[in-house]
Amino acid sequence: MNVLVINCGSSSLKYQLINSDSEEVLAKGLCERIGIDGRLVYQKTGLDKEITEAPMPTHKQAIQMVLDALVNPKTGAVASLDEIDAVGHRVVHGGEKFASSTVLTDDVLQTIEACNDLAPLHNPANLIGINACKELMPNTPMVGVFDTAFHQTMPKKAYLYGLPYEYYEKYGVRRYGFHGTSHSFVSKKAAEFLGMDLNNSKIIVAHLGNGASISAVLNGKCVDTSMGLTPLEGLVMGTRSGDVDPSILEFIAEKENLTLPEVMDVLNKKSGVQGMSGVSSDFRDLEDAYNAGNERAIDACEVFAYRVAKYIGSYVAAMNGVDAIAFTAGIGENTSFIREKIIAYLGYLGITLDKEANKVRGEERIISTPDSKTIAVVIPTNEELAICRETVALVS
Ligand code: AMP
Repeated sequence: MNVLVINCGSSSLKYQLINSDSEEVLAKGLCERIGIDGRLVYQKTGLDKEITEAPMPTHKQAIQMVLDALVNPKTGAVASLDEIDAVGHRVVHGGEKFASSTVLTDDVLQTIEACNDLAPLHNPANLIGINACKELMPNTPMVGVFDTAFHQTMPKKAYLYGLPYEYYEKYGVRRYGFHGTSHSFVSKKAAEFLGMDLNNSKIIVAHLGNGASISAVLNGKCVDTSMGLTPLEGLVMGTRSGDVDPSILEFIAEKENLTLPEVMDVLNKKSGVQGMSGVSSDFRDLEDAYNAGNERAIDACEVFAYRVAKYIGSYVAAMNGVDAIAFTAGIGENTSFIREKIIAYLGYLGITLDKEANKVRGEERIISTPDSKTIAVVIPTNEELAICRETVALVS
């Protein structure tokens, strides 16, 4: 079965066509600057990347261009659209309505729309992508895979905020968590790679990318995660602040003469390691600055690692122990010096870093020494493959 995986943002769209039997990527790419001017990147596996600048006023045109590229007689990955058997869409927020992936019927789309105010930047864009695909491929089954679904097993004590209960009842103000597709994929993969029984395991997944979150996965089910109502809560991220004293919002608004939306913009886009360091949100730049002795970059890296280590400690408490800590996403998979810093806090768990193994980039590898009581492991995430698998499970 060939599955087209679509991850649609407000002005961009990433896609992969995956053969679900071999789990091979047949072609992949992205559309950028939708509604501005338009740029399609397309790459059939084994061939060079093709870049086409062409107007893409709407997502429908963008998806049409992707479909045209996929069936192009010279460089296409399939002979006709009939060879695309299903489409799997990433949907950011499923609220409390979706605890698992689902086939996108008209009723389901209405329910997703009802979650729009929980993710005003992401869900409307996801829906635009879904509707455009439905118009262009009316007979192809579509599945929605939610970032929030894996975390729906969190107990109430983990997801309620210390706020008036009516806000939860009236508006759904609670912790939801994100990156669920990745946390689910990586926790399963970690258990498999380590030869552990997932149903009898305590795994902490540290998804450390530009957006970063941690989850506590007990017997295969999420019991806590660091992101909340929105992806702003939790770890210090590339440009997001993570946890701050809420009073800071009012304080900064007054001092800097900013409106609340402007302060939120600072917390989302100008904070994190970018805001702290003044160097970059990218850990490759930060590592260079760190090694050059840039003090603000050093502070940013220290704060980032310390926050991760504190969350790991709290999830050890939540699960009364931990068997394995899995590092994933851009930083978790590639940035050795940050993993080293985090693991340096975890001696109390009986973890010793294997410095040689920790040089690993982007592949499955145990990075703790064989005599460590808790295992530290790198597990590359693959959200597109996870979406493909979920889609196949629902349509075949
Ligand atoms: P993500 O959001 O998962 O794509 O992660 C992006 C972060 O991963 C950035 O801070 C990058 O600096 C960091 N990173 C470090 N090394 C690499 C690499 N080789 N490839 C991709 N991302 C990397």
